Amino acid sequence: MNKVKVFKFGGASVKDATGVKNLLKILHSNQSRPLIVVISAMGKTTNALEKVVEAYFSGDKDIAYNRLEKIKQDHIHIVRDLFGQHLPQDLNDKINNLFVEVEWVLDETPVKDFDFYYDQIVSVGELLSTTIISEYLNRKQLKNQWIDARDLIKTDDRFRAANVNWDKTRQYATSVLKSMFEKSEIIVTQGFIGSTAENYTTTLGREGSDYTAAILANLLDAEEMIVWKDVPGLLNADPKIIPDAILMPHISYKEAIELTYYGATVIHPKTIKPLQNKNIPLKVKSFLDPEAPGTIIDQNEKDDLKYSSFIFRPNQVLMSFSARDYSFIAEGHLSELFGTFARFGVKINLIQISALNFTVSFDNQPFKLEKILQSSLQDSYKILYNTDCLLITLRHPTASLIKKMKNGKEIFLEQRSRNTFRMVVKANPDDPIYNKYQ
Ligand code: ASP
Repeated sequence: MNKVKVFKFGGASVKDATGVKNLLKILHSNQSRPLIVVISAMGKTTNALEKVVEAYFSGDKDIAYNRLEKIKQDHIHIVRDLFGQHLPQDLNDKINNLFVEVEWVLDETPVKDFDFYYDQIVSVGELLSTTIISEYLNRKQLKNQWIDARDLIKTDDRFRAANVNWDKTRQYATSVLKSMFEKSEIIVTQGFIGSTAENYTTTLGREGSDYTAAILANLLDAEEMIVWKDVPGLLNADPKIIPDAILMPHISYKEAIELTYYGATVIHPKTIKPLQNKNIPLKVKSFLDPEAPGTIIDQNEKDDLKYSSFIFRPNQVLMSFSARDYSFIAEGHLSELFGTFARFGVKINLIQISALNFTVSFDNQPFKLEKILQSSLQDSYKILYNTDCLLITLRHPTASLIKKMKNGKEIFLEQRSRNTFRMVVKANPDDPIYNKYQ
């Protein structure tokens, strides 16, 4: 058997019927088999499902049902564009069943954490997209088998940011996938989702489908993994913010990890490690121009210093803690502070420590800020914070780039190391960076 390849298609690539038809074209023209196709939820479905969870958790059930209904209609619209007015009965049933499962959750009053419900509800986006697309491909003579990724990817119960149980996943995924490949050469599955030992659904963090693809690539010793995007490859900045962003044809795993860690959203931060560990090249290619080479990421570091990259992470809370008894910030404080952040599942994006202050920047997620403010930390620390901040990171910057970036900004904090400059600034509503993320 040839080595497997893993393709990952993100939401933008399958946002409508035209996107799904384009995916079919790419799979037809790219004859490498065996192939695992990992697919995200269609278009902005995950964002829309997040709004369902938020309404449900705030007690606005009618709003939650209405929002869910809108998502259903959007999917039915795409299905009609693909299959015509008369849907295959079993596809119709499968789609209805997926929505019924969400409705069952919405019927109950929440008794568990927000993150738990988030995963049970938001995961339906990937189940819908893969169900529709697998059926469509089969209909168009691209024979494939669909598998529920929750039967492959086993995780702990850290909902919304689940950690993969590699031993269990290896055990399930390798045996299931290998026996499936005996029957057909293409397997379609969902990115982003997994399940706990008790079979509760989990998710791996936003944009986590890349990570799913990388896990499967690692476990099956893939020849390569390709992420199909709506950009020509890895750019040195988000082109919607910096229009003259340039393509980086090649960077190392190491540089890619740095960029994603700082917040480059083009690939999920956890994607690189499973690939690096098995030396599997990652390609980032455009689904709009599939023949173009895109970006290759591998172990070779020779090109890394060629590019200055810009990473913008919006919607930050900048929070500082100082001990009420005026003591130095020492190891004991740090373990208490980090412990609290870990307990609430809040990932810290930047840290600065001085004699009396511990300052962090983190993503402002619903309900988490309140949890920190109401925690026992406030007994021993004075807590000050700003919301609506923007974290800017420059990799390999020149002095003039830093100067340009600082110009006109209200800077709350800055840090500099040999290869990286970072600052937290007040987000400015007139700035394109701000508008893009609202
Ligand atoms: N659908 C999920 C998201 O939008 C996962 C993914 O696309 O990778 O974040």
